[in-house]
Amino acid sequence: MKASVFYGKDDIRFEEVQKPVINDNEILIKLKACGLCGTDIHKVLEESVSKGTVLGHEFAGEVVETGKNVSSFSIGDRVTGGIHVPCFTCDQCSRGHYTLCPEFKKTNIHPGGFSEYIKIPVEHVRHLLYKIPEELSYSEASLAEPVACCIHGQKAVNIHPGDRVLIMGAGPIGLIHAQLLKKQLVKEVVITDVSDHRLNNAHAFGADTIINTAENNLRDYIQENGHPGFDIVIIAAGVSALLPEAMNVLKRGGTVVCFSPFTINPDVTIDAGMFFHDEKSIVGTYSVSPYEFEEALLAIQNGVINTEVLITHEMPLSDLGEAIQLTQKKNENVLKIVLKN
Ligand SMILES: [Zn+2]
Ligand SMILES: [Zn+2]
Repeated sequence: MKASVFYGKDDIRFEEVQKPVINDNEILIKLKACGLCGTDIHKVLEESVSKGTVLGHEFAGEVVETGKNVSSFSIGDRVTGGIHVPCFTCDQCSRGHYTLCPEFKKTNIHPGGFSEYIKIPVEHVRHLLYKIPEELSYSEASLAEPVACCIHGQKAVNIHPGDRVLIMGAGPIGLIHAQLLKKQLVKEVVITDVSDHRLNNAHAFGADTIINTAENNLRDYIQENGHPGFDIVIIAAGVSALLPEAMNVLKRGGTVVCFSPFTINPDVTIDAGMFFHDEKSIVGTYSVSPYEFEEALLAIQNGVINTEVLITHEMPLSDLGEAIQLTQKKNENVLKIVLKN
């Protein structure tokens, strides 16, 4: 079989790899669609994974082989799921921090989503594989993982009806956040970005106001419009300098949700007096627990997520390198790219 294998930021090869062999408790799926995630793009461009890695985790496919002990799935089932499974019993799991479980990152699908066939290990079969509702396409179902991550992130903060929310970053994650928020009767969703292309999409995802922060200063906007500030700020762009800015436009008592990995220049300066005097908070969120997938599939099935506008490109699995290049072109309207097999 073939897979798109990482060798370098400009060197992704669609090449022959060994087709996985399953045991009695595992499942083999034929990949149908795998979404290209911001984290995949970062890993490739920053060359932070080893040569020979097959990336991809937003998969959807068809069951083509089941181990003889597998009774919950059959050949022909259309499925989607996640890649990391917690143990459910350790210290972190017992406190509900499933994504921090020491077993979490040790578990994975094999060889990765950008591959013609994928082996689904036993713990995934038990806890992290879901049948795709009939009316959803494979591409739509591949959005379950990023939607589930956003649901997980929003659970880190108490969202009240009437809240004013700022989302920093109008990429697929920021736009999914916007749609999930609008279903919760928030008063206002403001989205910022430095790209007009990205921002132009944001109204279709429920944004009330868009601000290009390359041209307009956010704090000036707040002052000029007599805006009371935001109850919640979600940072959905991997720029650590956004954190001090988020704290400054937050209402007293508000919360900043750090959704993005701040891997580059993670040290930032914030006024720590705001925690005491203004009761402002910062919360972090990482990945997704098994409990958010069903909610995500329901959100997609019920039309909460505008999949039609969100998926801007469908490309063949062999074009992963081109797909990543495309995301770097400032003049292209690129939101979600789904690789298809
Ligand atoms: Zn993802
Ligand atoms: Zn655990």
